[in-house]
Amino acid sequence: MPILLDSQLDINRCPHCNVNKPNLKEVTHFDTFNYKGSNLRKWKVYSCANCGGAVLASAKGGAKEITEMYPKSIKVSEVIPKRAKEYLEQAIDSIHAPSGAIMLAASSIDAMLKEQGYNDDESLNNRINNAVTDHLITEGMSKWAHQIRLDANAQRHADEDFELPKEEVAKNTIDFALALAEFLYVLPSKVNKGIEVTKSEKKPN
Ligand SMILES: [Zn+2]
Repeated sequence: MPILLDSQLDINRCPHCNVNKPNLKEVTHFDTFNYKGSNLRKWKVYSCANCGGAVLASAKGGAKEITEMYPKSIKVSEVIPKRAKEYLEQAIDSIHAPSGAIMLAASSIDAMLKEQGYNDDESLNNRINNAVTDHLITEGMSKWAHQIRLDANAQRHADEDFELPKEEVAKNTIDFALALAEFLYVLPSKVNKGIEVTKSEKKPN
């Protein structure tokens, strides 16, 4: 369903605070044209009642359908394997329940590593260590992974002085899952597409 340039912006999540069903009200609007005076675009700025963040959206000509929006909501790439993608999307959707979001992001990371062949009966931490040894991921990425205590046991065996995961931790875990997905799937897919384009450009006419 197209999103319309109305006085309310009807999107599922605020791209700033990720609140569900945000109350995004128009604060101002204006029109722009190109140097020839054509390519009319109508713009509206919306503000989120929850976080105060602003979203800019535009529709072309006299149409109401929004064709551009800034910032864009987090979109999980189609090239990520199905299970990992689903977990990651659910993690992003449940950022307001941080413990659950962390578990889901960890499951997404686990699914990616399993898909890469690390599917024997090991913990996620072992899978990450093996992935570093095999140079599938970098030393830096593994440090990051261990910092965010991905191991579900760290969540389950939480004692009193183990602070409950905050939204920050959940965000960091989701960021890591997004970075891993970018590294393992999105970037290689872009590189392959780039190579294909270069190949076809080199072909004689
Ligand atoms: Zn917001």
